[in-house]
Amino acid sequence: MSSWAIYIHIPFCIRRCPYCDFNTYAGLERLQKPYVEALEREIRAYGQRLGRPQVPTVFFGGGTPTTLTGEQLCTILGAVREAFDVLPNAEITSEANPGTVDSNRFSAMRDAGFNRLSLGVQSFNDDELHFLGRIHSAEEATEAYYEAHLAGFRNVNLDLMFGLPLQEAATWKRSLRRAIELKPEHLSLYALTVEQGTPLARWVADGRVPPPDDDAAAEMYDLACDVLEKAGYRHYEISNWALAGERDWRCRHNLVYWRYEPYLGFGAGAHSFDGKRRWWNVSPVAGYIDRLSRGETPVESWEDLDERLAMGEMMMVGLRLLEEGVPDARFRARFGISLQDAFSEEIGEMTQMGLVEWHDAGLRLTRRGWLVANRVFARFLP
Ligand code: SF4
Repeated sequence: MSSWAIYIHIPFCIRRCPYCDFNTYAGLERLQKPYVEALEREIRAYGQRLGRPQVPTVFFGGGTPTTLTGEQLCTILGAVREAFDVLPNAEITSEANPGTVDSNRFSAMRDAGFNRLSLGVQSFNDDELHFLGRIHSAEEATEAYYEAHLAGFRNVNLDLMFGLPLQEAATWKRSLRRAIELKPEHLSLYALTVEQGTPLARWVADGRVPPPDDDAAAEMYDLACDVLEKAGYRHYEISNWALAGERDWRCRHNLVYWRYEPYLGFGAGAHSFDGKRRWWNVSPVAGYIDRLSRGETPVESWEDLDERLAMGEMMMVGLRLLEEGVPDARFRARFGISLQDAFSEEIGEMTQMGLVEWHDAGLRLTRRGWLVANRVFARFLP
């Protein structure tokens, strides 16, 4: 494999948000130092084993990468650069929580080569932020954005959430407007979902919080599509928009996932994929550190994908890309068969229903298909 995108998982947060089911923990600060050391070991071992391959994108996610010091983040990125051939124009992103921002950390990250920042703003309404258990206010989110700019970041994403219980269309619109005023290069919008085992799921089950209203969420999504289009954003993926213009501001790292290309994930619970096999690390932070400190692999398990499953998965992730969809040439290059030959029945049925359409290079969702995308994806899976 000649090139790999790299994901680095930082499983620490200041406080757990009640809706979150990611592999991340509050109160484990004592493990941060050994965790960084373990990451360095894992990164170096892979780089050596793979012969220092090229890396077009690096993404630090979590969790909250900015719970680590600027120095620690730079140490990890330094290990990636030593072990891999990080391309000179590589996209190097870190997620950041607006409540953990300080200008020194941002400047140190910029100096080390981070060139994209993804800020977990979620809302510009303080009541909604309080409901979501976020550690920052709307004002702090705005400050974080300006701090990022002052530190030299010129490629910034803001995450926003909609479909919150009791959220009104008017407050959602105000959050969108505030985001547009800041003119970030990229926006990711996610509907709140109630994940099993989270405090939010218990509150909904107890009746303390009404369940999210799917119809209201669909209306908010439609509103966002209109507002962002008028503001000059390209809706290139179901949940993602990039500022239109001369430069392409789409997230190159996430494009790797949607195009079903290979990636390496480092850290607790991180997943990797080489096109045919998926493997993942042990999730507990202490277990991950232990394994690496004993010189063992942190890989917990793996799954070999048969061709039929891989085809379905490529459709599932690729159709998320609203402009390019799944290009026939890419599908043929990977599986040696055309989209039409692989899925004639499924494509025929869904074209008739107006959910997918052919365009110059391949197959994509129609606007009607966006709204029932999960049902379309399921049709392609074995
Ligand atoms: S800050 Fe992000 S990763 Fe951490 S608990 Fe909240 S939603 Fe989850």
